[in-house]
Amino acid sequence: METKKINKMRTLTEPYKIKVVEPLRVTTEEYRIKAMEDAGYNPFLLKAEDVFIDLLTDSGTGSMSDRQWSGIMMGDESYAGARSWLKLEKVVKELSGMPYVLPTHQGRAAERILYSLIGGKGKVFISNTHFDTTRANIEFTGSTAIDIVCTEGQDNNSNYPFKGDIDIKKLEELIAHYGKEAIAAVIMTVTNNSSGGQPVSMQNIKAVRKICNDHHIMMVIDGCRVAENSYFIHLREKGYENKTYKEIAQETLSIADAFVMSAKKDGMVNMGGLLTVKDEALSVKCKNMLIMSEGFTTYGGLSGRDMEALAIGLEEVFDADYLHHRINSTGYLGEKLKSKGIPVIWPIGGHAVYIDAKELYKNIPVHEYPGQALVCDLYIKGGIRTVEVGSVMFGKYDEKGNLIPAAKELVRLAIPRRVYTQSHMDYILDIFDDIIEMKNRNRGYKITYEPQFLRHFTAHFKPL
Ligand SMILES: *Cc1c(COP(=O)(O)O)cnc(C)c1O
Repeated sequence: METKKINKMRTLTEPYKIKVVEPLRVTTEEYRIKAMEDAGYNPFLLKAEDVFIDLLTDSGTGSMSDRQWSGIMMGDESYAGARSWLKLEKVVKELSGMPYVLPTHQGRAAERILYSLIGGKGKVFISNTHFDTTRANIEFTGSTAIDIVCTEGQDNNSNYPFKGDIDIKKLEELIAHYGKEAIAAVIMTVTNNSSGGQPVSMQNIKAVRKICNDHHIMMVIDGCRVAENSYFIHLREKGYENKTYKEIAQETLSIADAFVMSAKKDGMVNMGGLLTVKDEALSVKCKNMLIMSEGFTTYGGLSGRDMEALAIGLEEVFDADYLHHRINSTGYLGEKLKSKGIPVIWPIGGHAVYIDAKELYKNIPVHEYPGQALVCDLYIKGGIRTVEVGSVMFGKYDEKGNLIPAAKELVRLAIPRRVYTQSHMDYILDIFDDIIEMKNRNRGYKITYEPQFLRHFTAHFKPL
């Protein structure tokens, strides 16, 4: 197929040009020191306009194409049966192979509808890794959510090509342990966002299907990055080198009983979500829930123009040149950081680069949050906004008030889709030269204010 023609130009040169520009504000280091202080040393509390390169998330931060923006003007805002809805439904049916499609305002709304219907007290959900909104919606129903990513996926340096895979042996053990009646569903997150954005193999997805069939268990795909996952399957899995990315995504989704999607990722839009199911009876229950909280079945929580843009985005995301550039641009940043000696989670996943801050800032003790120190340094040195994924986000306290640290102290650099250019990536790399000069720093941060739940969003810090 077409991607066989890969050469250097196609790997690192953006396969799009710029028609509308959004100026970035260039600030001084003194300005950023003050801004960081005003934000309580928490990048979530910065004003976005004070940020030069925003790598906080790849969710809803992408750029739409000229075709999508023209679609916005063509949006049909009819309450029922809008043309834009029929267009979206057709695209999603063709992609998922599922007959029942529900539009939602974002991914978590699809999750809430599905998991509140199939979950409940005493039920168990098993996943390669539950994303945090997935886990929250499951636990809210009284169910338990268990993550069983494969052992290679837990090793920062393993070269295994599909580190997002589920541990098949553990899956069988858990089903035997809880009994198949207790298992509400097995959820495959592709790519595995909370586990480094690592891909999941088709072989693994098929093995899960077989186990689910044997025990009559429902299988769900959380496929908000299904196009990125298809790229990795095409590249790394035998038997898929001659299939298109879309064909691989279709095969992936055809295996599941239900598909939930945050369209803010591979939907290439700023807001939106989808739920599709195969079973008619379940679709009726889902639609009732949809009408109660999201909206009528032909718009969910979306405007007609949003559905129009999403229908176009779901086609564009499978463009071979786009996907090739997308994955290679993320890989370029990660590989160059590695060659500078920055400890990164290896291999680089699809949508983000993860840095091991504990390894980089070896002299900062874990209770002084090395990840938070790196996040603050990246902002102060380069106006780059990133997020700590370590003990600030996941740490707990024991009875004496001592920190129980998270398993890893990571910093995530998430890459928005079609937003930044190669030269922005090179700029980020240059800023890391300043970071390397500071790697012997030995004091981190202390928390001066924290709420009881989800503290990373609003906590305040002080440098020590
Ligand atoms: C973002 C995301 C969600 C939640 O979607 P929202 O649109 O943010 O509600 C669910 N699962 C995964 C894997 C995600 O990355």
